[in-house]
Amino acid sequence: MTSNISIKERLAIQRVHMPERDAHVRNKEFSEVNKGLSLEDAIREAQRCLMCKTRPCVAGCPVSVSIPEFIARLAEGDLVGAAQILRGDNALPAICGRVCPQETQCEEKCVCGIKGESVAIGYLERFVADWAMEHDDQLEAEVRPTLTGKKVAVVGSGPAGLTAAGELARAGHSVIIFEALHDTGGVLRYGIPEFRLPNDIIDSEVNLLKTVGVEIEFNVVVGKTLTLPQLQEEYDAIFIANGAGLPTLLKIPGENLKGVYAANEYLTRVNLMGAGRSEHAATPIIKGRNVAVIGGGNTAMDCVRTAKRLGAERAMIVYRRTEAEMPARAEEIKHAKEEGVEFLLLTAPVAILSDDKGWVATLSCQRMELGEPDESGRRRPVPIEGAFFDLPTEVVINAIGTRANPLLTASAPDLKLNKWGNIDTDENGLTSLEGVFAGGDIVRGGATVILAMGDGKKAAAAINRYLSGKKG
Ligand code: FAD
Ligand code: SF4
Repeated sequence: MTSNISIKERLAIQRVHMPERDAHVRNKEFSEVNKGLSLEDAIREAQRCLMCKTRPCVAGCPVSVSIPEFIARLAEGDLVGAAQILRGDNALPAICGRVCPQETQCEEKCVCGIKGESVAIGYLERFVADWAMEHDDQLEAEVRPTLTGKKVAVVGSGPAGLTAAGELARAGHSVIIFEALHDTGGVLRYGIPEFRLPNDIIDSEVNLLKTVGVEIEFNVVVGKTLTLPQLQEEYDAIFIANGAGLPTLLKIPGENLKGVYAANEYLTRVNLMGAGRSEHAATPIIKGRNVAVIGGGNTAMDCVRTAKRLGAERAMIVYRRTEAEMPARAEEIKHAKEEGVEFLLLTAPVAILSDDKGWVATLSCQRMELGEPDESGRRRPVPIEGAFFDLPTEVVINAIGTRANPLLTASAPDLKLNKWGNIDTDENGLTSLEGVFAGGDIVRGGATVILAMGDGKKAAAAINRYLSGKKG
């Protein structure tokens, strides 16, 4: 069907728009904002793809999804074919279709974007993955491989750990994930709110991994409940993917006041434990009429949009540079603005002040201007002398970043770390310890879902090679 469409006709098709829920309704609840494409729109969008022989989009994808191939099947209406290709390349396609920054990866490389708009690869990935979830009975069931007799332990059930575990189980090894929390997904579940990534999507993709044999044991903190040397004794190989969830401090007065949260704590309370969303929540949250979120990344946007949904009248981003330097995805910034979030740009917090009972009352701020670019290439914020102002607020959320948690690494003194406390690995994820591999945020510092998955995939291949050379 698609081969009948000329290049000219393909180029004439307009890029599809993602239908969204109304901003004034959605900013009061947690249902997913993006509604997904209709079959008709997905096929029309797929027909925009030029099926480039050089496949530049694939080079832009850290897990090398066969993009033109799955899009070609979709364009022909062959959804089963599209789903089999996608699932073969990507263990978590419905998640990636929702949260990957495609605009700086595959879509940035798409040739259609040179003179016009790139193919909406992310929307199509989401469409095919969602279709596959609803039509599982039409897809070939995965056959569990013959067991190799080798045992692999994975630490952490975030995207890096899940991906590695899936690949290793498919290779026939017995794989167990040790997870510190009581549920799967890592940041996918406790960090990213349901209005961007619903929990049932995570459950569904994790369940697929269980069908290939991945086991998961919850409430095990490696470094406390079990140590790394204990795992080394029992398992033939280990993959460490415990993320980097320790908050970076603001280092301003008042950081310990009541009403100040670290972003991960705030999001975990709401997303994982239902605080503010259910009467039976396992933990409380201070909602606040005025909430100031410090930072400009995805985490900051997730916090501020959550605060709005919990009823804040003023949900504010306080960011020391301008919107152009914000690391958050463009879609998140757009959605936040539509939902009524205020952006206080070129503004840096200098102190948090309390009322006479020790609760947050004011965020004292200083206005900034942009100076010369720093090491990251972004223009450096420079304080404007004497330009201070006070922001009345009851809640302050620190979303400036996270770093490696030393709990696990402290239990293995021979594990080589870099100066920031992240684990040092070679290009295949091998650490300084034999048979111990690592990947995702614990190696890179805060990065992205797909980079963590890419690390999981690469390390799984290296573990396979390592185990095939190992007697036993
Ligand atoms: P994590 O996802 O952090 O998972 C680590 C897992 O290990 C967790 O389940 C943790 O409980 C467990 N663990 C930790 N310590 C131990 C231990 N000692 N023993 C056992 N288990 C342990 N990226 C994107 O691509 N798109 C986005 O839109 C996006 N939004 C984000 C929003 C927020 C709020 C945050 C915080 C991050 C966001 N990111 C986003 C970044 C992305 O989520 C991370 O880069 C990615 O999740 C890292 O994956 P990981 O598997 O390395 O670690
Ligand atoms: Fe299709 Fe764009 Fe990839 Fe070319 S670069 S194959 S047009 S998605």
